[in-house]
Order: sequence, then C-alpha cells, then structure tokens
Amino acid sequence: MLLLPLFLSALLATPAVLAGNIGAIEIDGSDVTVRFDDLVAGASALLLAGPDRIALDISGAQAGRSPQGTGLVRTVRQGQRDPATARVVLDLDRPALVSDARFAADGRSLSFRLAPVSSDEFARAARAPRLELQPPVRFRAKPPEKRYSVTVPIGRPKAAVALPAIQGPNNPRLPLVVVDAGHGGHDPGAISPHSGKREKDITLALARAIRDDLIASGRVRVALTRSDDRYLVLEERYGIARRLKADLFISVHADAAENQQASGASIYTLSEVASDREAARLAARENKANVINGVDLGAHSSEVSAILLDLTQRETMNVASDFARLLQREAADEVKFRSTAHRFASFIVLKAPDTPSVLFETGFISNEGDAEFLASTDGQKKVARGVRQAVQVHFARQIAAVAQ
Ligand code: ZN
Repeated sequence: MLLLPLFLSALLATPAVLAGNIGAIEIDGSDVTVRFDDLVAGASALLLAGPDRIALDISGAQAGRSPQGTGLVRTVRQGQRDPATARVVLDLDRPALVSDARFAADGRSLSFRLAPVSSDEFARAARAPRLELQPPVRFRAKPPEKRYSVTVPIGRPKAAVALPAIQGPNNPRLPLVVVDAGHGGHDPGAISPHSGKREKDITLALARAIRDDLIASGRVRVALTRSDDRYLVLEERYGIARRLKADLFISVHADAAENQQASGASIYTLSEVASDREAARLAARENKANVINGVDLGAHSSEVSAILLDLTQRETMNVASDFARLLQREAADEVKFRSTAHRFASFIVLKAPDTPSVLFETGFISNEGDAEFLASTDGQKKVARGVRQAVQVHFARQIAAVAQ
C-alpha cells in the first residue's frame, strides 16, 4: 500500500495560477540570474550543508532546462517541487552565501551574487530560515492556491479520512498547528499497571487541553487529527497535517517502560538513526500501531523526486529539532523532563517530508506519579501551557527571521 502524491491541480487545471516558466539560468562568475518567460509569484532561497547546496523555490513557476555548472556552481538541477513551485538546486563547488538577491523591476528575472564563505559560516547560515523575495507588486503573479495538492492513498479500500475542522481565529495567515492524540479506537497504546489508565485516553485529553490553550493565545489556528476515540493509521495522522498544509505537527504520547521508576518527558524528532537502543525500541513499538490494522504500511515509496524530497526533509528536520529544543526549554517549569530529553528515532508518524513534526512523550504511563500527573486536569493544563509557550516563541522567531 503506497501513498502517492496525486496533484489535483494537474487535473483541475487552473491556468490563471500557473504563470512563468524558468527560461534560462545564467551564471557569470559569481553572478547568477534566473530568467522567467512570464510573471512569477515569488521566490525563496535556502542553504543546505553537507554537500553544500543552494535551493531556490520559485512560486508560480514551472521548471525548465538546466545549464552546465561553472565557477562556484558545480551543477544546476531543476524539478517541480509541487505543481506550482519550481525548485532550482545549485550544487556548490565551495561554500557560498546568497547576497544582493532581488527581482528585476519587471519581475522577469531574479539575480543574486554568490559570496564565498568558510564551511563553518555556511553551516551556520544553513540553520537560518529561508530568505523570501517577491517581485514588484505590479509584476507579480497571483500566488498559487495554498492547498494545491492532496495526498491520496492508492489501493486503500476506504476513502481518505475526512479532514478535521480548523479551530481558532478565522485568519488563514495565522500558522496552523496540528495536534495528534496518539493511538485510539482498538489501539489503546500503553496501559498503566497501577490504575489501568490507557494511553489513548490520556493523549486525547492532553491534545484537547493543548488545543484549548493554543486557541486562547489567539496566535495560531489548531486542528486535531482525532477528537474522539477513533483509530487512525500513522500515515493518516501526518497525512492530515500535510493536506491541511500545517506549519507544525505535534504527536502526543505517554511512554511505558518495564522499569516503573522510569519517569519524565522526552521529545523525539525524526532521524533514520535512532539516538540509542531504547529510542529504537520505542519507535518499533509506536510504529506497530499500523501493523495492528493488519496492513503493512512500512514500505514507503514516493513519486516525488528523491532529490527534492531529501532537500525538503532535511530542512523540515532542522526546524523540528529547533522546536524540540524550544519545547523542552519552555515547558521545563511545568513538566518534568528526562535528562536526555531531545532524542532521535525513526517514527512513521514524523515522516511528513514538509511538515516540521515532533513526537512528545509527555511522561511514563507506567510510572505512578507521571500517570497521575498526566491524567489530572492540572497536569494536562501544565503540559498545554508549556506547548503554548514554545509554539508562540517558535512562530515569533520565524516571523522575525523573515522580516530581517
Ligand atoms: Zn504511544
């Protein structure tokens, strides 16, 4: 059973949205010019280290033919990141930053200079958010519709799950956070040996508390993957976040361990290499939620070019790691964390290539104190408060970075 991205806009062609083709990319010494045959909506640039690359996403454009690399640029590649966004990748011969980037007055070209820097400087710059650029307003194509692609499961007997309602301020410009209550339905998750409390009930209560606090902040919109006791396969959970074009995905869980003394929260972000054996075991257990349904969803395949996916996923993983550190910092007053709180593991639920995702193990349901805390209204409010603070700082930072 494979999840293939199916681009609906290709079927429901909307000619008004797609405008320019990338006509030419000219590299002259350290000067780079990207030319368009018509108006485009905007562009953004990001740096990716190891190997060092510059990726340009051009909104409202179609990819064209790439020239040979020269000078600082070893190779040029292009592809369609989604139906309305072309991605140009410059593989660098030596680390270099993008400087003096701007659109021409007629909006028909984007030029910038490559400024060589040290590897350290490049690596530091690669952690910064992307640089956003817009053509002059009179020469700007209408931005593509925000929701231009939908991931449709192929070969799944039932229809894709319905999208949940987006709650909070009715302002589509506000960031959207999708909160995922782990487990549900016939999958109870871990069960407390003391009280018999089930993870699926605790995660749902926590997700609701987090939603309420986030909405009360007025700064973000929120959707829950489930708001009742239902079963969702893992791909449906992050699939909901992707289909809603969420800016952040938080999957809420409560861990279990044989050692009932084990306690404290931890935050996991995606890595193909788990940070330790325990993390690998936990990932195996959480990923099993899919096998319960009798369907092996482990085999991942994608029609998206592996190169483009890799670039996007690295960037997404960086943002997720930043948020994980922030969550630990901001929630530490309210929630007890384990000593190594930020961990890496290969969780299926974190595998959306384009949505920064964290798995928040809020504590050990197998520990009497943790279970009591997580099952209490007061504990749930504390967890929610920590998440809200981290979410606020996270998006405030992103807005500040773009405004620079
Ligand atoms: Zn769980």
